[in-house]
Amino acid sequence: MPMTAFEATRTWAEAQDAADPLRAFRDEFHIPRHEGHDTLYFCGNSLGLQPKGVRAAIQAELDDWSELAVEAHFRGRSPWMHYHEYVRDAMAEVVGALPHEVVAMNSLGANLHLMMVSFYRPTAERPAILMEAGAFPTDRYALESQVRFHGFDPSRDLIEVEPDGPGGTLSMAAIEHAIAEHGHRVALILLPGVQYRTGQVFDLQTIVRLGHAKGCTVGFDLAHAVGNLPLALHESGADFAVWCTYKYLNAGPGAVAGAFVHDRHAHADLPRFAGWWGHDKDTRFQMGPHFVPTPGADGWQLSNPPILALAPLRASLDVFARAGMPQLVEKSRRLTAYLDWLIRTRLDAVLDIVTPNDPAQRGAQLSIRVRAGREAGRALFEHLEQRGVIGDWREPDVIRLSPTPLYNRYADCLGAVEAIESWTG
Ligand SMILES: *Cc1c(COP(=O)(O)O)cnc(C)c1O
Repeated sequence: MPMTAFEATRTWAEAQDAADPLRAFRDEFHIPRHEGHDTLYFCGNSLGLQPKGVRAAIQAELDDWSELAVEAHFRGRSPWMHYHEYVRDAMAEVVGALPHEVVAMNSLGANLHLMMVSFYRPTAERPAILMEAGAFPTDRYALESQVRFHGFDPSRDLIEVEPDGPGGTLSMAAIEHAIAEHGHRVALILLPGVQYRTGQVFDLQTIVRLGHAKGCTVGFDLAHAVGNLPLALHESGADFAVWCTYKYLNAGPGAVAGAFVHDRHAHADLPRFAGWWGHDKDTRFQMGPHFVPTPGADGWQLSNPPILALAPLRASLDVFARAGMPQLVEKSRRLTAYLDWLIRTRLDAVLDIVTPNDPAQRGAQLSIRVRAGREAGRALFEHLEQRGVIGDWREPDVIRLSPTPLYNRYADCLGAVEAIESWTG
């Protein structure tokens, strides 16, 4: 349906919701309430809502623990011994990877460091990391501390590509130029899949091609991309990637994160920080002194899996498996296009949309700025909160609204825009 077919009426929006083939999935989530109504929750980019299946998933493991204790490793309903493997196929599907290329473990920040232990191997001739300026703080801190850890100088060896596009976006031309200029001394290129502040999507495959052509290793932070974009990690050729699962993946606060190691490294003898759960599965319990990694991403695990923390991820990925990423992406594109259209047609005098208009360059998230400046932006943000419209604020002046296809409705988008209009008067 072309974009001009959108209408800014409740009747139209509700008809879209009624015809939405994914509409039943909303009932699988707990929607927070505000003054007797469901909130209009646009914050799935930050913390996804709780799937109703999570409680039973955790309860089942608590029951096994109380009834079987250590025996649950082998005799539980889902034997704990292999628990991380239960999320593997669904997670691989979501990120477009082969099953043995992904593992659920640790947190995003920890995985970023662990991956850099193996994939940031600086030398005197090639010491640098290339990243974006304005990256999420943890990424900036992690990369800078890695450069220092190896005895290099971040002021010279941490290369930050400055945004050159409208609203602080970063053009592919700027990335290409930076790789052409610095690539010969870059050990690692680390970029996001979706920029957290602007919502801009990066073309992973092109970045990998440009980076590899210059002899650089290429990795991605997919925190805002996973469960949001149609990813094809294996095909992209990326050396590694990391992501968290509490944003679009709805796995709960601080949930177990993910990592991808490309198949071409599955059997590689790479330096790594090792732990017993990364040891070859078949001989792990011989308890020998010499580490032999399990092939694939599993070989980067340190510890036995946190069962109570993985249970929600498992329940959440089950929802994704049933909905299907292609279907979710199709709805997401149209839902975000609707919010974008509403804002552009009704609030153009008041708001700027920072996120690129091109559907290929954005996911669910729209980042908006109030033209009147930061203070007005804060005031609008608080006005929305008081009306039960939940987005989030990112300094210095961005309000992020992310309609997500699993639980947001066309009527939510209209409601958000009406709430903004009630502020503009
Ligand atoms: C959300 C996010 C993080 C958060 O890291 P944690 O280790 O999960 O606390 C890091 N980087 C990016 C780009 C993010 O979007």
